Amino acid sequence: MTPELLKFYTALQPLFRERMGEWRVGDFYRCPECGTKMYCGEAEACIHAFSSTKDKCVWIPKLSDPIQPERGLMGLVKNEPSLFYRFFDRLWICETYSNDHQRTGLFDGSTPEIAVAKAVIVQEERHADN
Ligand SMILES: [Zn+2]
Repeated sequence: MTPELLKFYTALQPLFRERMGEWRVGDFYRCPECGTKMYCGEAEACIHAFSSTKDKCVWIPKLSDPIQPERGLMGLVKNEPSLFYRFFDRLWICETYSNDHQRTGLFDGSTPEIAVAKAVIVQEERHADN
């Protein structure tokens, strides 16, 4: 994970916990002490993943979850975003839309996760302003 993505995911932790619920078996998280780990249930998770130290761990959601869309990063973008790779500058692009299908934003990143995380952050900031 790049430092840029880690910064975005850190900022989005409250939203992940609000929308995605609790960690489930198969989810990934990044512990500042132990590195990136898969959550395999409480018995196997690292000691930092519990109680008072849990906030130090950064939840790493899937880019998309076809079965439970709200548990993937794409599912947090409102109104069915568009995600594609733009080959001429080697960037991933996430386009966002309004309720009436007008394009409201275009976010780029060196990985699809960065492009989508930028879109989520901007949409949530707009939402908070209303
Ligand atoms: Zn740990």
